Amino acid sequence: MPKSAQFSEIFDQLPIDQLLEISHHATESEVQSILRRGFARNIEEFAQLLSPAASAHLETLAELSQKITRRHFGKVIRLFAPLYLSNECVNICKYCGFSRNNAIPRVTLPVEKVEAETRILAGQGFRSLLLVAGEHPRYVSQNYVEECLKACLPHMPSLSLEIAPMETEEYLPLVKAGCEGLVVYQETYHIPSYKELHPHGPKKHFHWRLDTPERAYEAGFRRLGIGALFGLYRWQHEALCLASHALHLNRNCCNAQLALSFPRMRPAAGEFQPEEQNLLPDRQFVQLLCALRLLLPHAAFVLSTRETPALRDGIIPLGITNISAGSATEPGAYSDYDHQSWKPSRQQPGEQFNIADERSPAQMADILRQKQLEPVWKDFDSSLVSPFSPPLPAAQNHH
Ligand code: SF4
Repeated sequence: MPKSAQFSEIFDQLPIDQLLEISHHATESEVQSILRRGFARNIEEFAQLLSPAASAHLETLAELSQKITRRHFGKVIRLFAPLYLSNECVNICKYCGFSRNNAIPRVTLPVEKVEAETRILAGQGFRSLLLVAGEHPRYVSQNYVEECLKACLPHMPSLSLEIAPMETEEYLPLVKAGCEGLVVYQETYHIPSYKELHPHGPKKHFHWRLDTPERAYEAGFRRLGIGALFGLYRWQHEALCLASHALHLNRNCCNAQLALSFPRMRPAAGEFQPEEQNLLPDRQFVQLLCALRLLLPHAAFVLSTRETPALRDGIIPLGITNISAGSATEPGAYSDYDHQSWKPSRQQPGEQFNIADERSPAQMADILRQKQLEPVWKDFDSSLVSPFSPPLPAAQNHH
């Protein structure tokens, strides 16, 4: 059977201008017809749900999104914590605190320290970690990551990675070591902006990055995460490309669980200021989340601590399935937490971005319960499934 096309081959042919046109000018009756049906059948209907006409029906959209989420995921919200391994980076990304031209203290945690941080997070209840690192082949080598995974696994059954994109062969030992998931944000799907924002380092290769989830799937990762950083280009454009990417991965990587993230820009070292016209306002943020849910009923939606407590509390019930809590975005920061207040006991000069929701993991779990939602720390035991076992039938893979 011929290998199906990767997303980078399809991306350049996406009718993005046409879709944008739809997202600006959908009619009331087009929107009504989707709302009556209760879901979006394709990317064109998703574009209609991003329109000003759909914005007028935000309450109905939110009700539908909530209903679909409960139907497919029940009342559970999966909690995870990011654990930063290193803030060394060879790339210049103009919006990121770790960008190589920012004068911040640089650190790569020794494996023992990574294990110590993992134990602290396990003590807070976490059973699922996202190991995050800047892109630096010397400090954050494949061997180093493999050692970290092996040190974490005895304390933390579910591990995912957000590290520099690799080739399929390089991912194989990481999957074999027990890693479940791979997260890679495209940041922006608008090529001219991407070029402008990533002037130096391997990250400037847009299309290679775009195919990372598919290389990861080939290596056996069973969770794939994608996302766009909203605020780098017009939100409708990013939303349409992110949704197209998700539809493509649903078709081509159907045995992995797909997770989408839609972080919005936060202040960071380097003082990058998003352009006014690229900002995603709160109301449209909710509209986007609900529209995505009407298109992608089975995808996990991730919400990070970049958003304020008020906003998080409001939108978690509407369609979110995974949240981080009590996060630090600086390597080694959890060791310095005051474990009563769950606040850092010192300044964090080397963080990637500022956190807006500083509530502790236990507080977040309580808030979920108050909303009749069930905090879940672990939803799968990877030790029971070999990454090289035959794929599950698609029907069993729907969460
Ligand atoms: S976004 Fe990632 S690749 Fe870019 S500077 Fe930050 S850590 Fe490095």
